[in-house]
Amino acid sequence: MSEWTAVQGLTIAIDGPSGSGKGTVAKILADEIGLPVLDTGLLYRLTGSVALDHGAALDNEQAVVGVVDSLLGSIIWTVEGIRLNGADVTATLRSEAVGAAASKVAAMPAVREKLLGLQHQLAENGCIMDGRDIGTVVLPDAPAKFFLTASVRERARRRWTQLKDESGSSLDDVIAELKMRDQRDRERQHAPLKQASDAIAIDSTTLRVEEVVDRMLGVLERRKLIQATNP
Ligand code: C5P
Repeated sequence: MSEWTAVQGLTIAIDGPSGSGKGTVAKILADEIGLPVLDTGLLYRLTGSVALDHGAALDNEQAVVGVVDSLLGSIIWTVEGIRLNGADVTATLRSEAVGAAASKVAAMPAVREKLLGLQHQLAENGCIMDGRDIGTVVLPDAPAKFFLTASVRERARRRWTQLKDESGSSLDDVIAELKMRDQRDRERQHAPLKQASDAIAIDSTTLRVEEVVDRMLGVLERRKLIQATNP
């Protein structure tokens, strides 16, 4: 049972760079207030991964749009993750290689346009969405927007701790990869990673996950977007 009840249809946007803790924080917050949480990065990761598998050049927008068209009828995207033709492929999408492919296809306006409808559809009944452009493009009217940041070194350390067992990458490799992905995400023309003017920034470099979630709950309570279930 959640400790808080959210107002009907509440949408919350959580954006930030890779490793800023969006996903972890979004899941805990979702549990606390009883809302579904949707990780939009999975849509770009799946597109990048399938494009790689099909040998589509990641700089060929038309080919990648073809991949998205072929995917749209075959994916089920939920709070649990993402299914392709019935199989749960979420875990296969976590690698750095797929993350890099995702950020290349995510720079393509036609790809983003096609994935936007799906995101709007799922947000209709209220949710927490995490990504890069949720507060600026996907849910510009969300009554609560957060922009999570952390130093590059701390974000890389978190990614590296997660990946260490599977990839042979060193911390320096992860830092270099993260910087490249940050640059691509921030400098792309269409829907770049950027703090919405009405978003609240939280730097999580030295904060524990619970402290970040508490700050968010405080904002939501002050705005009367949530109330205690058993006051
Ligand atoms: O968040 P995650 O690391 O899974 O995202 C992978 C990539 O997908 C990001 O580097 C970014 O390029 C892209 N992305 C995006 N817009 C979103 C979510 C993810 O461009 N809303």
